[in-house]
Amino acid sequence: MAIVGGGVTGCACALRLAEAGKRVRLFEAREIAGGASGRNGGFALRGGAPAYDVARRELGAERARAFWLLTERYLDRLEQLAGDAFRRTGSLRLAADTAERGELEAEYEALREDGFAVEWRDQLAEPLGGRFDGAIFYPSDGSLQPARWVRRLAALAVEAGTELREHERVESLEELDADQVVIATDGYTRGLVPELDAAIKPTRGQVLVTEPLERRVFPCPHYARHGYDYWQQTEDGRLVAGGFRDKAADHEYTAKETTTALIQGYLERFVAELLGEEPRIDYRWAGIFGTTADRLPLVGRLPGNDRVWVSAGYSGHGNVLGLTCGELVAGAILGAPAPELELFSPARLLGG
Ligand SMILES: Cc1cc2nc3c(=O)[nH]c(=O)nc-3n(C[C@H](O)[C@H](O)[C@H](O)COP(=O)(O)OP(=O)(O)OC[C@H]3O[C@@H](n4cnc5c(N)ncnc54)[C@H](O)[C@@H]3O)c2cc1C
Repeated sequence: MAIVGGGVTGCACALRLAEAGKRVRLFEAREIAGGASGRNGGFALRGGAPAYDVARRELGAERARAFWLLTERYLDRLEQLAGDAFRRTGSLRLAADTAERGELEAEYEALREDGFAVEWRDQLAEPLGGRFDGAIFYPSDGSLQPARWVRRLAALAVEAGTELREHERVESLEELDADQVVIATDGYTRGLVPELDAAIKPTRGQVLVTEPLERRVFPCPHYARHGYDYWQQTEDGRLVAGGFRDKAADHEYTAKETTTALIQGYLERFVAELLGEEPRIDYRWAGIFGTTADRLPLVGRLPGNDRVWVSAGYSGHGNVLGLTCGELVAGAILGAPAPELELFSPARLLGG
């Protein structure tokens, strides 16, 4: 078996296949966690890209509930595997204005109705109070040190027998001596299967990281404006902030892994305004994630192809979903497809 891509998806898939006794080779063009898995904001969230009430509308109540329950189980799995790279902090979704507050209320009601843990917050601590119009707290979510987590997952896969081939780009699937191939390249998917290139849109996310702050201000991951702005404080006190992609939407649908002055400017002003000071910026980077038309990943066998599988297109929510879908695609290869995979069937967007 061959896996293309050494992020959370590829490593999770490799671990499950190797544990089942399969001979697995994992190819990574750079190094483990060199893609989005080592460049992201570190939010480990229940559910998918749409809010729960929207998912209920789009998928139907039963399927949305099964989806959210699946990711709750995988948050527990992540906690077991990740050691000190994961902290169960909860996360906070903030309303930037009255309209967004209405959307939060709809999601809060939907989650409560279906029995999910969720808390409404009207009293927001400084510096959030006065800036945001209420929030939802999701207690089951957490904070990841993403690169450390994925390197740990890769080490587990190697212990189970996976052969890692870092710094080896797969140029064509034909070159691989393998009866089954899994494409686990999310936003970096290109050049191997034309249908996937068409269905998964590379999308850039930009991040900056401040010097360590003297105050501990944010105990958990925070996000606002429909997830376009997000930030959290690391254990050593730094603020990691990302987003503002919507300010240059046309330019940010790109596979170019570079920062831009425009988006970095938005991030700097946001951080300064939030903190009431201008901390030194120590790091900046960009990463690419894969977006699909319905914001659900493509997970399973490619239609009409009995050799090639895919797990990609998490639409910006790949930390928990990458682990989930990497393991589920491996389960399907091993002949035990989980019922939830039906939601992510590649045929819905690729035809066949
Ligand atoms: C800035 C940013 C912030 C984000 N924040 C969050 C967040 O807070 N929470 C969340 O859940 N998600 C977040 N995401 C999304 C999340 O990071 C990704 O969805 C997830 O990491 C995807 O993991 P993956 O293993 O599928 O792909 P990746 O980690 O992107 O790995 C794919 C790998 O495939 C390799 N590759 C590509 N082509 C080839 C080839 N031909 N041969 C060999 N190797 C190849 C690449 O080098 C890459 O390392 C964010 C993404 C970005 C960019």
